[in-house]
Amino acid sequence: MRLDNLYVAEGRLLDLLLFLSTAPEGLAFVVDESGHLLDLMDGSKVRWLLEQGHTVDEPLINVIGDDCPYVDQSGLSVGDGRCFPLLPVVDSEHRVIDVTASTKKEFIPVAEPSLGIKEFGYLAEACLSGWISSSGHYVGQFEKLFSSYCTSPYGVAVSNGTTALHLALAALEIGPGDEVIVPDLTFAATINTVLYTGATPVIVDIDSDSWCIDPQAVAAAVSSRTKAIIPVHLYGQPCDMAAIMVLAQEHGLYVIEDCAEAHGAEFDGQKVGSIGDIGCFSFFGNKIITTGEGGMCTTASPELDARMRLLRDHGMVRGGEYKHEVVGFNYRMTNLQAAIGLAQVERIDQILVERKQIELNYRSQLQGRTNIEFQRDLDNRERVVWLTSVLVDPSGRTDIIESLRANSIDTRPFFCPLSQMDIYRKYVHSCRQSCTIAERGLNLPTFSGVDVSAVTSLLCR
Ligand SMILES: *Cc1c(COP(=O)(O)O)cnc(C)c1O
Repeated sequence: MRLDNLYVAEGRLLDLLLFLSTAPEGLAFVVDESGHLLDLMDGSKVRWLLEQGHTVDEPLINVIGDDCPYVDQSGLSVGDGRCFPLLPVVDSEHRVIDVTASTKKEFIPVAEPSLGIKEFGYLAEACLSGWISSSGHYVGQFEKLFSSYCTSPYGVAVSNGTTALHLALAALEIGPGDEVIVPDLTFAATINTVLYTGATPVIVDIDSDSWCIDPQAVAAAVSSRTKAIIPVHLYGQPCDMAAIMVLAQEHGLYVIEDCAEAHGAEFDGQKVGSIGDIGCFSFFGNKIITTGEGGMCTTASPELDARMRLLRDHGMVRGGEYKHEVVGFNYRMTNLQAAIGLAQVERIDQILVERKQIELNYRSQLQGRTNIEFQRDLDNRERVVWLTSVLVDPSGRTDIIESLRANSIDTRPFFCPLSQMDIYRKYVHSCRQSCTIAERGLNLPTFSGVDVSAVTSLLCR
């Protein structure tokens, strides 16, 4: 049995580097003189050591760890070996006796949060301060910074994107007898929150270029009971807010922007969330920026700001006398969530650039593939990238999803149109484009560090 990956721990880190340049898979099983496994080393581990301040002249023995994955004689895999293509097989004395191919492939999810040392620092501070509920300075700081990023005068942080939407509807006193217009293609929280209030949702079609609510379909659905429209800036694409605001003005309707997937997007130079009466954001773990779970309502109205703050906190009047003015909710965000959120907004420009670059990589690697259509860039709209969104042939979509899944790569079909689900069907006013787009849509893995070519090489087969 040849063990070309075996390397006896002696000499400097530099000597190991030279060994790695010729070792199979660029991997070393570092052992002591008797062949006992000490560590696994590859190029990325060396790079990490150098980043930590180690130098290539250091004795190897100083930098190797004592904990690494291996396979025992019975074939049992110990430790997380997914980063290594080969693993050492050891005997009961922990001596390397063989080499085996790692069976685990690195799983590529659709989304992964971009969290750094800054998030951890603020979170640790919030934790150590003892202010772990909704008092504590991070909540106010996060509200201020995120709302000003959205060029909105006020921001009310809440527990998630769904409570943001419900709080907005409640603050606008929407309830039984009212109608609220929503697009057919969206995540169900948009319509569910309308139903929470007792109002009647009215589902309308989308526009096939933007995949967002179609203003003409909205116009056709307005009735004397209509109170509000919820345009959803789907997959990072801003809705046609000019047409929607004209309609709202004509008919005296409120506009609640569902911005859960579009932090930072702009229509005609205006940030989403600052155009309608209230903007609702989500900071769920897979969104553009995250607080784990979290949300925010943005508004330019001091009255709506005050109303939402009151409703967010049980409808309780400030002063500690347990006097309640209205029937409110507990929709508060914790200081822990806000600590992460503050660090995320401080990094949002960089996060958005990274996401845009990932989409560009997909575009360039899939260039010339006529069976894959990317999301469009439209006049007057500054789209942001949430999950890279493409349209494929509907008859081949399931095969694509399954073949990627077989290679440990996760993709997602677009949302199921509300009109196709029994519980919502009775609220449909119009739907057609929504169904055509939805059955073709696919979201590709989009997060910092994603291996785009691993995905595109399978899509090109
Ligand atoms: C994620 C999402 C929501 C809900 O946000 P949560 O924070 O998960 O409650 C609402 N609307 C849309 C369009 C979303 O994508």
